[in-house]
Amino acid sequence: MSYLKRAWAETHLDRIKNNVENYKKYLKPETELLCVVKANCYGNGDDAIVPYLENELNVNWFAVSNIEEAMHLRDIGISGEILILGYTPPEYARELIKYDIIQAITEENYAEKLSNFTPFGNKIRVHCALDTGMTRIGVYESTIERACHTIERISKLKGLQLEGIFTHFAAADSNNQDDIKYTEMQAEKIISVADELKKHLVVLNQIHFLNSAGGIYHSNSKSTLARLGIVMYGLKPDSSLEIPFKLEPALDLKACVAMVKEVDKDVFISYGRTYKTESPAKIATITIGYADGYPRFLSNKGEVLIHGKRAKIVGRVCMDQIMCDVTGIDVKAGDIATLIGTDGNETITADDIANIGGTIGYEIICNISRRVPRVIYENGKQTAILKY
Ligand SMILES: *Cc1c(COP(=O)(O)O)cnc(C)c1O
Repeated sequence: MSYLKRAWAETHLDRIKNNVENYKKYLKPETELLCVVKANCYGNGDDAIVPYLENELNVNWFAVSNIEEAMHLRDIGISGEILILGYTPPEYARELIKYDIIQAITEENYAEKLSNFTPFGNKIRVHCALDTGMTRIGVYESTIERACHTIERISKLKGLQLEGIFTHFAAADSNNQDDIKYTEMQAEKIISVADELKKHLVVLNQIHFLNSAGGIYHSNSKSTLARLGIVMYGLKPDSSLEIPFKLEPALDLKACVAMVKEVDKDVFISYGRTYKTESPAKIATITIGYADGYPRFLSNKGEVLIHGKRAKIVGRVCMDQIMCDVTGIDVKAGDIATLIGTDGNETITADDIANIGGTIGYEIICNISRRVPRVIYENGKQTAILKY
């Protein structure tokens, strides 16, 4: 098992396990875990993580963003329930049946089209999305009664088997009073719709509305599933919010020192001459760049860890390389730089990087490109290498 030691990620399954177990403590006994594994497990490597969740952690529910991700999970042997959270063109009705995948219903029109595309004699399993305030997908109605009637009509379409309804919180990761009220309003709405559907004898196996933040701050026994995403990968839903347990970021990002050079005062570094040395300096060139998903906004702002010390990125991040000021650090070509992760007493998280660029940790890890192999570890032992 080998891989190019240029820029690589290391994903630790035992950290995912700890995050999952800590999160589960916040769920009510009525709520079952659903792991959100879209976008290659947020960049962490689904080929290793999803089988681990199913076989080692006994997770029975998975959610993805689209049908290709869903079929991929079946192709690698996943047998648990798979829910597609987003739109699938109705033309894929056959694949939904063949792969036994549960499809989200975005609106009534879509439900009718999907039903019409269902091969005769079959029923596609669906969960109907309800828009309670995210204004993204879902049945959008002015009253509980109207929403109920729409969903009831959907439940009667001959090509569909309605098994659940769900909604998505817009601001569960906030401790602002208005946001907290808004989240509670969203939960109350879907619970009311579910109660109303029950009166109309529409039987639902699943009603779900919790995401990572929701499960921790708005845990609710009425949600039969909790859709755990970012917290499983060890990052915060919102970087300003404290998580009541120790999150363990699953993924480390590393690269190699290509060369080290001593330069004079007044030397320009990288494209656009945006950095000029103020005194003689030792500069290391490191083998990672924005084509690996390492953000260009870190130009002149980011840091990396080398031999347990912080080194500043100087000049612009290039496509495949960056330069760092390693003055005072004992560095040579071939040494390892940690871009995300811990080295000695120092740590840089994807959330730290996100804060520099005004974005969220989700985007940083999702953007790690397919040029970067994911090296999988379990209890410190390398168990797989995922190359793309
Ligand atoms: C991505 C997603 C989640 C997971 O959100 P996290 O904040 O990562 O926990 C849950 N539900 C839906 C509908 C999603 O799209």
